[in-house]
Amino acid sequence: YYNSDTIIFLDGQWVKAQNGKINLYSQTLHYGVGVFEGIRSYKTENGTSIYKAKEHFERLHYSAEKMHIKLNYTVEELIDLSYRLLEKNSLEDAYIRPLVYVGENMALQPSEEVHVLLSAWKWGRYLGDKQLKLMTSSFQRPNPKSCFVEAKVCGHYTNSIVATTEAKQNGFDEALLLDMNENVAEGPGANFFYEREGKLFTAPLGNILSGITRQTIFELANELGFEVIEKFFTPEDVYNADGAFFTGTAAEVAAIGSLDNHRFNLPWKKSIGYQLATAYQKCVQIK
Ligand code: PMP
Repeated sequence: YYNSDTIIFLDGQWVKAQNGKINLYSQTLHYGVGVFEGIRSYKTENGTSIYKAKEHFERLHYSAEKMHIKLNYTVEELIDLSYRLLEKNSLEDAYIRPLVYVGENMALQPSEEVHVLLSAWKWGRYLGDKQLKLMTSSFQRPNPKSCFVEAKVCGHYTNSIVATTEAKQNGFDEALLLDMNENVAEGPGANFFYEREGKLFTAPLGNILSGITRQTIFELANELGFEVIEKFFTPEDVYNADGAFFTGTAAEVAAIGSLDNHRFNLPWKKSIGYQLATAYQKCVQIK
């Protein structure tokens, strides 16, 4: 993610990543109380463009507020700093990782000391380009009554890590997690859609991260004339699907070939997902 030349933004300064330091008693390190974002920039005909930068930094503010972390940079300042970060590292197509973490405090109440890190690196499509084999996870997504599921909190990702690890250990590429009522929620780091008889289905908000790519897919599906229905559904509903895909900033639109070894009916290139994946690539490359 970094080398000896990499520059990061840390608490108001541009420093070399290799010289960045963290207090070992940081509450974030011990308890996972920190918030972050995952953002992509794309090379366009009119220069580098950070896709939906405002939406991502607004979500960072939302996440920080939910966790009682005071984020002292405005959305506009964070966008401006991100462009400067890309310039300093000569990056065009890149992944930007803002992290807001807190200082030394072992008590279970918010720390007043807030740190802001912006880093960026080149990152290929997170889940790759092959059609993913999914496994229904034995882990559920965090219960919305035990945390703020719509906030992107560091500690929430322990759930993602155990789910992905379980899937890989069982010979699958990725996990699909259910909610507390055993309905399909989302992937460990992406939202989930499936296609059936020309319509798209995805879980409603409430038990999932409100994905920015998910929202883009709603817009693109609408432009292309496909209906998207938000409703609860089970893995059995997905077994009969014609196709399925994940959406996320890092994953973009990722093809899914099967769930629990039930293969979907359509070849990827004949699916709505394929059309949306193509439309998504066009959309992110326009400044
Ligand atoms: N769900 C989870 C759990 C995620 O980590 C992500 C990635 N941020 C998403 C969904 C997709 O969100 P977005 O499209 O905003 O990247």
